[in-house]
Amino acid sequence: MSEHSMDPASVAESELATRRGTFRAVAFRDPVDDQEHVALVFGEVLGFEEVLVRAHSECLTGDAFGALRCECGDQLGAALDAIVREGRGVLVYLRGHEGRGIGLVAKVRTLALQDRLGLDTVDSATELGLPVDVRDYGPAARVLLYLGVRSVRLMSNNPDKARALDEYGIKVMGRVPLLMPARAENLAYLTAKRDRLGHDLPHLDETLG
Ligand SMILES: [Zn+2]
Repeated sequence: MSEHSMDPASVAESELATRRGTFRAVAFRDPVDDQEHVALVFGEVLGFEEVLVRAHSECLTGDAFGALRCECGDQLGAALDAIVREGRGVLVYLRGHEGRGIGLVAKVRTLALQDRLGLDTVDSATELGLPVDVRDYGPAARVLLYLGVRSVRLMSNNPDKARALDEYGIKVMGRVPLLMPARAENLAYLTAKRDRLGHDLPHLDETLG
């Protein structure tokens, strides 16, 4: 568990009515990465076990613009839907996670390279001398502990994410798949996630035959 904890002076909370329902928005500046993130909290979570949680990596192109070459926007919506259905849960929206941590400009550069050279998401980063994944899940763990959430069911297909949260002191009691339908535009991306980054994406087997 981290020795760093959240400073209440760096946290602001308000109700946030959305088209899905009313959440509590807990915005915070993380003491370690010094970025601003937000946790959307639905229902009562303090002291509950196995809370349904999504630690969502920011993807401006997918989340805000509905880009089809990744499944981030679909996952964001599906995770919020699942939390509302459950009646309780937390979505932590992690800034600074664009392109698995390389930033927006570098991510768009990798997209151009993928289109030009036919490289996948891993090789396009490596080709540019960039790391493949430098995301840190410390901010997600710290805000969950701040909210009184110590054990979670994590909505993710990424075993590394579950391990990372666990190392930061959050008990991941289970992983809930968040499988988005493959499309022509994101099939290469999903396949690389499965084959090169170790994500569990069993539905691709059916798509690919
Ligand atoms: Zn994305």
